[in-house]
Parts: sequence; C-alpha cells; structure tokens
Amino acid sequence: MAGNKLLVYLLRRDLRVIDNPILHHLATTDHGFTHLLPIYILPPHQIETSGFVAEGQKSPYPLAKSQVGRFWRCGPARAKFQAECIWDVKHNFESVSSGMLVRIGKFDDVLNHLIESLNENNQSIDTVWMTEEPSKEEVDDQNAVARVCSEKGIDFKLWLDEKYFIDDRDTGLKSPQDLPDVFTSYRKTQEPLRERPRPSLPRPQAGSLPSFPSSVPPQKAPFEIPDNYDEFVRRLLDPIDNMISDPPPFPEGAKSAHPFKGGESPAWERLYHLIKSGAMTTYQETRNGLIGTDYSTKLSAFLAMGCISARSIHDELVKFEDGTERDYSKAMGFGQGENEGTRAVRFELLWRDYMRLCTMKYGVRLFKLDGFKGANGNYDKKWNTPNEEDADPDQNPPPKVVAEMINRFIRGTTGMGLVDASSRELYHTGYTSNRARQNAASFLTKHLGVDWRIGASIYEAFLIDFDVNSNHSNWQYIAGCGNDPRSNRSFNPVKQAFDYDNDGKFCRTWCWELREITKLEHVFQLCTALPEELEKHGLTNNIMVTNPLKRIEFSVDRKPRGSRRPYRWKRAGGRGGNNRRGDSGNSSGNGDFNGNYRNGPSSPPNTGDTYMQNNGQSRSNWAPRGNSMSWRGNSNGYGPNNHGLPGRGHIPFQGNSFQQGYTNNAYHHPPRQYMPGPGYSQQQQYVPHAYHQQLPPHM
Ligand SMILES: Cc1cc2nc3c(=O)[nH]c(=O)nc-3n(C[C@H](O)[C@H](O)[C@H](O)COP(=O)(O)OP(=O)(O)OC[C@H]3O[C@@H](n4cnc5c(N)ncnc54)[C@H](O)[C@@H]3O)c2cc1C
Repeated sequence: MAGNKLLVYLLRRDLRVIDNPILHHLATTDHGFTHLLPIYILPPHQIETSGFVAEGQKSPYPLAKSQVGRFWRCGPARAKFQAECIWDVKHNFESVSSGMLVRIGKFDDVLNHLIESLNENNQSIDTVWMTEEPSKEEVDDQNAVARVCSEKGIDFKLWLDEKYFIDDRDTGLKSPQDLPDVFTSYRKTQEPLRERPRPSLPRPQAGSLPSFPSSVPPQKAPFEIPDNYDEFVRRLLDPIDNMISDPPPFPEGAKSAHPFKGGESPAWERLYHLIKSGAMTTYQETRNGLIGTDYSTKLSAFLAMGCISARSIHDELVKFEDGTERDYSKAMGFGQGENEGTRAVRFELLWRDYMRLCTMKYGVRLFKLDGFKGANGNYDKKWNTPNEEDADPDQNPPPKVVAEMINRFIRGTTGMGLVDASSRELYHTGYTSNRARQNAASFLTKHLGVDWRIGASIYEAFLIDFDVNSNHSNWQYIAGCGNDPRSNRSFNPVKQAFDYDNDGKFCRTWCWELREITKLEHVFQLCTALPEELEKHGLTNNIMVTNPLKRIEFSVDRKPRGSRRPYRWKRAGGRGGNNRRGDSGNSSGNGDFNGNYRNGPSSPPNTGDTYMQNNGQSRSNWAPRGNSMSWRGNSNGYGPNNHGLPGRGHIPFQGNSFQQGYTNNAYHHPPRQYMPGPGYSQQQQYVPHAYHQQLPPHM
C-alpha cells in the first residue's frame, strides 16, 4: 500500500525483546518504517519439520540429520525447549503491541513466498533485517536472504548480535585472525571482566514499535502451522520421538537438573532465582557439581536461543554487587561488590564469547576432523571411524566395533560409571553438567579414539543447550585438535568420579544397575567388582562386566581424614593450585586433567601424591563428604608453563567489516560445510554410512 514501509525482521537465536538491538533501534529512532513483521523461521535442515506437512503431502526438504553421524540434528528435549522459547517471545512481542509469525522453510524459500504473496495484494517489503551468526550454515542462510533481497531490490542489513558478554566492537581485535589461540591470553587482554560489557538495552515500550501488519500471508504449502502451542509441540516432536532403539529406562527417583521451560520470561525468572538464592555467590564452589538444579546456572540453553543476553546477566549481577536492587537484599553477598561466584560466572561467559570468536577465526575448521589445530598443516592424528569407506584398512578397532562403541556410549553401557551416568542423564533430560561432558567427551575421543565429530553430533542431537560454537569448540578442545594448549592430556574417568561424585550418587542415580553396588570403585567401573557381588546383584553377564569398552587401572587406598575446610579440596602434599582451564600451570601429559580443568576447587595434581577430599559441612550438593581417600592413578608430571601471556592491549574500534553489521551481499562466505543428504530412515542404531561422498574434498 502506498505510503507503507514494511520492515521484515527474521529472528533466529535472538528470541528476546529485552536487550534486543533491532527492537531498541526501532523503538527509539526515527527510522521511517510504518510496519514491522517479525518472523521466526524453523530451518528444516536443523530441526525436523515433516510433522507440519499437511496430510497426504510430502516435505520438500531432506530429513534434518547430521552429516557426520546421521543423528537427528535436534532431539525432543531441545525441540520442546525451542517451541517454548518461540511461544514465549511471541507473547512478549504481543505484550509490546507487536506480534511474531512462525514459518517453516529454507530462509530464501520463506522470503520468496512472502514477497510473492504480498505482491499479489499490492504490498511489498522495504527492508529485511536479521542478526548475524558466524557459523557456516547460519552464514549460508544470511547469504541466501541477502541474495533474494538483492534480486528483488529490497534493502538488507545484518545486525551485530549483542547477546555476548563483550561486544565485538570492544574486544580490541582488529580481525578475528588476531584472536589468541590460548583462552587465557585472550582473557588477560579483557580483564577486568566486570568493566567490559556495554549496558544492556531496555524492553521497548508498548506502542513504540512500528505496527504489526493487519493481514499476513499464509505459510507456504505443504506445511501448516497450528496456532495453538500443544498442537505445535506435538507436530514438532512426532517425527523425532524415538531417537534410539532400546533406550535406557528412566531410573526411578531420578530428577532432571534442567527442569526449566524455554523462553525469555523463564530465563529472567531463573536469573532472579540464582541471585536471590545466593547460587551466584556460591557458584565458584558448586560449579563442578553433578546433581541438582543450582550447582551451576543452567542459563546455557536460554543463552543459546538468545532468550537472554550475557550482558543482561552481567547487569543484574552488578545491581546485586552494588546493592542497588533491593529485591536482592536478602541474598548472600548483597552490596559487597564482585565475589568469587559472580566473577566466575563472568569468566565462563567469556569462554562462551571466546568459542564464538574461534568460529569467526577458523570458519569451517569448526567442523573439520583435524580441527583448529589442522590449520597449521601439521596435525595428522588418526581417528577411529565407524565408516568402512573412511577407515584405514588396518584400523583397530575395525569400523563395526567402533559403531558398536558409539551405540553403547549413547545408551550409557560403556562400563565407565561416570560416563554412562552422563549419557543416560543426557538422553533423558537433555542436560548433563560441564564436568560430566568433559569426561564423556574425553572418554570417547581420547580413551576410545573415536572421531570427535561423532560425539559433537550426538551432543547436537541430545543437548537442550546446543550451541554450535560452544559445542564443537569444546569437543575439539577435549579431543585435542582445538584450542587446548596441552592437547594430549585426557581425563581419568575413575579418578574424576572419585573427585566429583565422591558418594557415587550421580552414578547410582542414572545407572540404576549400580545402586546396590557398595564399593565406589566398582560403581565407577563395574567390571572391577568381585564375582560374588556381581552374582548377588544379577550382574555377572552384564555387558559392562563381560565387555567393558575400557579398563582403567586405578587403586584406592583409604587414608585417615584430613582437616576440613569448607568447599575446598585439601591437598596433603605436592603441588596443587586453583588452576583454570587453559591457564598456565599444571600440565599432565597423557594423564588426568587434574580435576582443575577450570576454575573449580583445587583438586589433586596428577603426580601420584596423596590427596584428601575435604568432607566438611559444605552447602553445595557436590561437595565431598564421607571417605577421605587417596588415589594412585595414571600419574604424570607437570609440564612447563607454555602460555606467554601478553599484556592488556585494547585497540580502539576500527570500524571494519568484522565489527560492523553487513549490508546486502557484500560479505564473503566460506565453502559449504553441511551438504544436504538423502532422506534416511529414522535413526535407531548407529549405522555407518557412506556420507563421505557428499562431503567436499577437504573433509
Ligand atoms: C563436550 C562439551 C560440549 C559442550 N557443548 C555445549 C553446548 O552445546 N552449548 C553450551 O552452551 N555449552 C556447551 N558446553 C559448555 C558447558 O558444558 C555448558 O555451557 C554448561 O555446562 C552449561 O551449564 P550451565 O549454564 O549451568 O553452565 P555454568 O557453569 O553456569 O556457566 C555459565 C555460562 O557460561 C557459559 N559456559 C560455561 N562453560 C562454558 C564452556 N566450556 N564453553 C562455552 N561456554 C561456557 C555458558 O553459557 C553457561 O551457561 C560444552 C562443554 C563440553 C565439554
């Protein structure tokens, strides 16, 4: 209609109205748009959408399965969480007198259909905006939208996403290529972290946004989108409901550590709860926990969908630390400045930033078998693959055996208690702790030598908080082909279980077979239990006993209890320290990560020294109690401090394309990573397949 100026805002992982740069701009400047049409697109390559196809019709898109692994890209836990996020933000748009459409299809298909439908009614789109994402598929989608806009004479702008902790314009990096490969080096250039984030942007006032169009084009056939939530979720989950055959049964009494609904409103409720309950203050002490909702923030899934920004979290922490928000006045540490816990949360949020910056630096290397390390051309580690076509003729174990290992890893029957409990928890709840993830990833890639990308796609399928940058970078980090400067170390999952599940509760909760097993070392590695005990509990023929995927030599000596110090590990000798991941300090060669992977409690270095767990009156649910023990596991000495730490060096904003939003097609994109695959039947067992033929030559 003459005089109308329609802006289409395509949402992706920015499902929020608070601290949303696009909405803030629209609410506060004289932009000239008369109408705003926000659209959330369910991308059929990343989430299965065939449940929305009208009866008797077929989806034009291949199944949303991962290229490496052929797992569903998005499993039920995240699909449901995502549906909740979509519905919640739709409601939030309505609460500021706007609205939001949900559409299904490839980005260019949706946009083309929208343009055609509007044209039929003598309407047109003036401008399309979206926020940028750096990883390959997202860049492809951006490019596809930019292309359509350029063909149809529509303005297109890509906005800088401001959901991260430190704004790209303030990092001091002139280009992503300047990012140090050691996290600590980067962190040191950004400290003090509390001073770094920009202020967050307020929720737009009702009526401040351009009007939502009075009529909107329908969804393109063959898809139909129900307008009620229950039906929407039913259709979303229908095709992916049975992710695996013979799944582990849900253990009686087990509870999800992540029972939270998705959405912007639940994200804020969660944040308020964490501050008011004191969980933010105790975070540093509890963050290596395994059981319960509050040992860590559980903000990752909200952050991944962009329901809340890292700087909004920071802002609330500042209000609490400065004592300016009376609602927080009863919380431990109120008005006393930054504390160990709030500092540690900022530290972790910087890790998240860093992982994204790594994607910007390395592009498609995020998905490559030789990872970031392969960039120098000297990384040639061989991985065990389940694919006959890719395996070396002398691969040991052979591909069939590797496929079976993967099946058992997913179902939690490897025989390694901590790893199995984590897999089962993940399968049932969509969440498992950072500590458990590290151990599971290390077991699969280091102990079993399996292609890390298979693990990454399993996590993509099952994690509620999947974020491609954080997930793939962490997998690479643990596998040794990413940005871990000491890449040949691995976790000892038995020792880690003694360190972090010291009463066996986590393992016994999720691996119900282990509940009656009395000795911890047997809980953590069932095959070490005595025949009489196995017989007694009917476990003699259990596959975890008859064919454990790995045996780890580990002996336990009971020692007298040491003195107690709340929350802390107490070292009884040798060197220790409160080391953080990537920090300088202990390096353990091929041994354990020393339990000090990041800023957790100081735990034993791996030198064969004797350590005692504190069994004091801890407020945390992970904290050690009961037996004090010493360990003699795979011990390794310390390595040198191999991180040169540059001083702080902020370079002012240079205004280059890395730091600014892009316009139209004027940006380069790397070659395609995920290629559309043929329609495979629903994933049941892991069956190796000949995917390599579809991959570009560099894979
Ligand atoms: C193999 C592996 C895969 C992972 N996959 C993902 C993933 O897909 N998505 C994801 O968000 N995190 C991932 N992580 C990182 C980390 O495990 C989760 O962010 C964390 O467990 C989420 O729980 P939380 O929100 O309670 O974290 P908290 O301990 O409360 O941390 C606060 C926030 O800091 C960020 N953060 C913490 N640790 C990391 C980290 N190592 N890397 C990046 N950001 C971090 C997250 O945004 C998190 O919400 C992975 C880690 C490993 C070892």
